[in-house]
Amino acid sequence: MSERLDVLRLGYRKGRDPRITTHLALVARAMGADGFLLAGDEDKEMFDNLNSVSDRFGGQLDTNHVGGLSHLKKHVESGGVAVHLTMYGEPFRKAIPKIRRDRPVLIVVGGAKVPGDVYKICQYNVAVGNQPHSEVAALALFMDAWFGESASEREFDDARLIIEGVNGGKLVHDLEDDSE
Ligand code: SAM
Repeated sequence: MSERLDVLRLGYRKGRDPRITTHLALVARAMGADGFLLAGDEDKEMFDNLNSVSDRFGGQLDTNHVGGLSHLKKHVESGGVAVHLTMYGEPFRKAIPKIRRDRPVLIVVGGAKVPGDVYKICQYNVAVGNQPHSEVAALALFMDAWFGESASEREFDDARLIIEGVNGGKLVHDLEDDSE
């Protein structure tokens, strides 16, 4: 287990990609990230929605607006590990065993255009296949491999709502509802 893992979304444009960015944050939370950092436009409403998911389904996802490159540089200069997800990188299953886990880890995902400096500042440029696809898919596959099966099976101790998955229906346990 690494000391801390945050996901940094670069180049967020409010009004253009809120849904995909929300999905990124939801994957980050569900699969065990400690924080979700947004570089680009500010979006308080998105953070409120994410906090509401954590209130109901548990876990604590810190949400913050940061400067993209400046935050990345500060993270690396202070001894952190930065992993950039990019189709131009090294295959993720080969890269993961080499990545240090004893430092805070920042997973960087791009938006429309990724500045060239990101490739240089990050110690690891990692590909989830070398085809262009989605940052959401890349993050989910990377985190599942990083944490092992525990990522997609994660449960949160402080959850109020617990979903019991069953074939052909769903069971929702509301731990604050005495009538259940
Ligand atoms: N054209 C953009 C650029 O300048 O690199 C990339 C756009 S892509 C839709 C958005 C993000 O998805 C990328 O920055 C990267 O983080 C992620 N991504 C897409 N395909 C990937 C892959 N095969 N492996 C890892 N990450 C990927």
